[in-house]
Amino acid sequence: EIYCDNAATTALDPEVLNAMIPYLTNQYGNPSSSHALGQKAREAVEESRHTVASLLNASPNDIFFTSGATEANNIALSGAIRTYDVSHAVTSRLEHKAVLQTLGQYSQEGELDVSFVKIDSKGNIDFEYLENLLKFNAQSIVSLMHVNNEIGNLIDLKALSALVKYYDGILHSDTTQSIGKYRIDLQELDIDYLVGSSHKFHGPKGVGFIYINKYKKVKPLIYGGAQERGTRGGTENVAGIVGLAKALEVSYRDLEKNHNHISYLKSFFIELLTNGPIKNIRFNGESFSEDKSSYSIVNVAFPHLKHGGSLLDKLAQLEIYVSGGSACSNLTQSGSHVLKNLKVHLDRDNVRFSFSRHNTPQEIRHVVKVLNQIYQEDEGIAKSKLL
Ligand code: PMP
Repeated sequence: EIYCDNAATTALDPEVLNAMIPYLTNQYGNPSSSHALGQKAREAVEESRHTVASLLNASPNDIFFTSGATEANNIALSGAIRTYDVSHAVTSRLEHKAVLQTLGQYSQEGELDVSFVKIDSKGNIDFEYLENLLKFNAQSIVSLMHVNNEIGNLIDLKALSALVKYYDGILHSDTTQSIGKYRIDLQELDIDYLVGSSHKFHGPKGVGFIYINKYKKVKPLIYGGAQERGTRGGTENVAGIVGLAKALEVSYRDLEKNHNHISYLKSFFIELLTNGPIKNIRFNGESFSEDKSSYSIVNVAFPHLKHGGSLLDKLAQLEIYVSGGSACSNLTQSGSHVLKNLKVHLDRDNVRFSFSRHNTPQEIRHVVKVLNQIYQEDEGIAKSKLL
């Protein structure tokens, strides 16, 4: 069994599990209770908030815990739109559904105009086009992701924030795929809303966070108690929050080492694949590039198997776990909106490989060997059919 689907989710780190166990067992207090058991839980939540804030060079007051990145994106966009009466949004057709559907809902209700930035066939954003949109639409909210979850495209957040701020815009970035993998310094970056999800960096599922710049506010999405300073009512997921903070700490502790290891795996994979027997391999988006894409994601456009059948199914049968697009778009059966919008390589078997610090060069070698065997066998079958 080889797991190369780390953009969908990652394995829980044992150190993270250990940090969580007390809060799943004897430390079960409600952080809002005033007795000692409650206060122990409160301390754990606030300590976690400090950890997350210091790793991102932000203030603990700017960090709000949520159920994940979907909720955090919703809070950021809905919150900003409703708080500041924003009437124009700029985004890209390659964003995650949590962003597209949220903006789409406001647009459907007639409260928001949404403009889509121009992208090229590799998914690169046309910054000149973006600048023009901003020039003619003052105080827009701009929502562009740091790392694309399907094709791995990486954008320059610093350049983006400089541009958006020059035109007085509000900036939200879905950083779900980059938190824990790239250093993000919120003193240096002028960004209003940024999100993270613990299960993408070896933490537990169902917990995430939103960073809200101290000069910005949001109306809550979930009304209730005064938890998370009124931004998000509901008893805190204490064990999850502790796990998120520990997972982020572990990820940033070994960031350079992991970066080197995972980027080596990616380039080793590309090298073996492109020098192997499978002909006509292409890459989706910028995933072939070292500097324009994340070091952990590569999306490959394989030729269809002549003998039919899906490459993804064949890989799954051989216990190689990868994905066609995002796990979320599997549910809708409509295929990847990201690849559709790139309009290239749709007549192929597109496979996303996403690596983590747990993968090894031996695994990469095995995955490529299996791919080669699938194609060689398919060639053999196709040839014998011709005879
Ligand atoms: N944004 C991006 C870019 C993602 O990859 C994901 C996870 N597929 C999400 C948002 C949603 O995250 P969560 O699972 O925490 O809701």
